[in-house]
Amino acid sequence: MVWRYEFADYGATAVFLDSSPPAPPREVWPVGRSSSTELIRTVTRLEFDLDEMVRPYQFHSDRVFVVDRDSDYSDVRADALLTEDRQTALCILTADCVPVALATDAAVAIAHCGWRGILSGLVSKTVHTLRNVARGGDVKVAIGPHICADCYEFEGDSAATVRGRFGGVAFRTVDNRQHLDLSELIKLEVERSGAVVVAESGACTFESSNLSSFRRDATLERQASFVFRSDHQRRGQE
Ligand SMILES: [Zn+2]
Repeated sequence: MVWRYEFADYGATAVFLDSSPPAPPREVWPVGRSSSTELIRTVTRLEFDLDEMVRPYQFHSDRVFVVDRDSDYSDVRADALLTEDRQTALCILTADCVPVALATDAAVAIAHCGWRGILSGLVSKTVHTLRNVARGGDVKVAIGPHICADCYEFEGDSAATVRGRFGGVAFRTVDNRQHLDLSELIKLEVERSGAVVVAESGACTFESSNLSSFRRDATLERQASFVFRSDHQRRGQE
């Protein structure tokens, strides 16, 4: 199954895949730019005609990589991608972290948000970068499947670090243990950045056997999420 969200006003589409049917082997998920239409269709399971797919080497940073004709694809280390290009799908992989798709009237972006990236300012940086290229209107945000607060015990130094920055607002107590609500952190950052969350999947990676969860399985498997500009695709189908 797939959760697809259309940013209807902006002519953009976000697609959050799960593992059913199983994702292709990891070796067909090249880091950087791919331009095989067949590969893109296979990997993304999308019926859209897209010329390129770009995937970053993710490292829990605040780096936003802008995909355009002048990009240096020899170093696509980033946790967010952004493009104005109408033929490029932006891709990230996750397994418990939060895939976040963003859109404006002029560009789209996707971010891989774990607590480290959120703390480093990845969400606000992505929103601000998007706003700089937008012609106006809100930056809209769709939050994909990730580990939910009930399933995400979060203790120790990491918890102290998050509390130091955000206070207790995103923490929950479950069986006398601290749990962290990642989507709550993201919503705070989105709101502070002046953007708007318009959709949330609600699916939990830990609880769904169709989603990869690092906490559950210590797995190397990941689910792929995409965002791309689709307004020209729709026009083409009419
Ligand atoms: Zn859960």
